[in-house]
Amino acid sequence: TDNFFDIVAARFPADADAPFIELESGRRYSYRDLKEISGRYARLLAGLGVAKGDRVAVQVDKSAEAVFLYLACLRAGAAYLPLNTAYTKAEVGYFLGDAQPRIFVCTPASAAALADTAAAAGVGTLLTLGIDGDGTLPERAAGLDAEFATVPCAADDLAAILYTSGTTGRSKGAMMSHRNLSSNAATLHRIWGFRPDDLLLHALPIFHTHGLFVATNCVLLNGTGMLFLPKFDADAVFRLLPRATVMMGVPTFYTRLLADPRLTPEAAAHMRLFISGSAPLLADTHREFRARTGHAILERYGMTETGMLTSNPLDGERIPGTVGFPLPEVSVRVVDEKTGEPVADGGIGVLEVKGPNVFSGYWRMPEKTAQEFRPGGWFITGDVGRIDGRGYVHIIGRAKDLVISGGFNVYPKEVETAIDAIDGVVESAVIGVPHPDFGEAVVAVVLRRPGSDAVDEAAVIRACKEQLANFKVPKAVDFVEELPRNAMGKVQKNLLRETYRGLFG
Ligand code: ATP
Ligand code: MG
Repeated sequence: TDNFFDIVAARFPADADAPFIELESGRRYSYRDLKEISGRYARLLAGLGVAKGDRVAVQVDKSAEAVFLYLACLRAGAAYLPLNTAYTKAEVGYFLGDAQPRIFVCTPASAAALADTAAAAGVGTLLTLGIDGDGTLPERAAGLDAEFATVPCAADDLAAILYTSGTTGRSKGAMMSHRNLSSNAATLHRIWGFRPDDLLLHALPIFHTHGLFVATNCVLLNGTGMLFLPKFDADAVFRLLPRATVMMGVPTFYTRLLADPRLTPEAAAHMRLFISGSAPLLADTHREFRARTGHAILERYGMTETGMLTSNPLDGERIPGTVGFPLPEVSVRVVDEKTGEPVADGGIGVLEVKGPNVFSGYWRMPEKTAQEFRPGGWFITGDVGRIDGRGYVHIIGRAKDLVISGGFNVYPKEVETAIDAIDGVVESAVIGVPHPDFGEAVVAVVLRRPGSDAVDEAAVIRACKEQLANFKVPKAVDFVEELPRNAMGKVQKNLLRETYRGLFG
């Protein structure tokens, strides 16, 4: 059937003892474990009344069992709904109320605190799952028959609801079908040239599309293994790099590796591919990483609602500061936000996309869904970008982050690029802040290298004036020790806008 589990299971290795997940402790889970444990979990879910289309909400720490639970949901025909482990009780309450899951799985430690929340949201059953295979879910599944006939699903059936990162506002639940998962996984698996001897180093969270669908689904389709770290940890990464062949990370992984003297060509010699996504990778990071290791990081671009959309090539030039070409099957166009008309070749506009990877809508938000699609099935990404003469897509920023100062459009990226080029600057974030005369004023928040205090406000403004039209030059510059980032390493400009909201009265 079109159940994504059936699609991957058809390609599992002939040798059931082949490793699927290996933990830092050395503990290994084979493809046989995958089949048996997910079979028992699926049987438990079905026994608890989970039927096709029912949601199973999950807020647990990263573990092999959590992956088996994801697969069990697919097998039971349920919609897997993972929640960020950082969400508070109040936030979990909102998501449970919104999603109305039949079952909620949380950690053994949080069960007491979340029991009322789950009951208030009308959740029928609360189960727990710990990182050592402990908790009521594994306990209750333990005695069950491991054979489970995967529920047949059609390509359009709901496979998962993934909440967006909440970078620009409240997280939205994206409804992902079995087709969405299988089409994207098959494409990525092919274009990134997965091999029978690949071993993926996995240090990402698994409640997000990057760690769950991009990384894990590629490995499942490849029938190979992954080294599973609870989170990014430079010591563990350096220990495992000599065995791994592929790593997927957010840009902060790469900046942290670069800050470590252990990053050498030898340390990365066994690796065939470093992939980056979820947030912009600075061109400088790309160049430094290449100079230090010989590896050109492969940057790709995507979002929760669509899976992956573009990728730099495996063979061919990986251009720093670009996210590469639209994936096969994915159409990308650049549109004038106001008129909805495609812009001329090379022009800047909002990216719109279409393809079998694009979600069917936001959970219980039909108006929001309708707003984000144009006739013909084009989904409005909300990202501003352009496509250059060679077909490479460049992301310029988010439409919501555009600053309109004195009636002129300022793309923060352009100002950030000018500031980042100043000697002594590590990185910057440019935002619009309410201003009595200009509507919005351009404000730069800057992170300096240690010992670079000579780069002060006047120096930044001077450097910007040399390169940028006056209306783009920051009206104020503030220096910080670090930029606020969320779990995926995304700079939270909404928080910065809050911080500087009163700057001009
Ligand atoms: P929300 O939609 O809730 O505001 P979010 O958009 O950050 O949050 P995600 O779906 O996790 O939630 O992230 C998708 C976004 O991440 C894209 O729309 C894009 O802005 C950004 N992104 C992903 N990959 C890249 C990349 N390689 N370069 C630049 N931006 C990227
Ligand atoms: Mg988004």
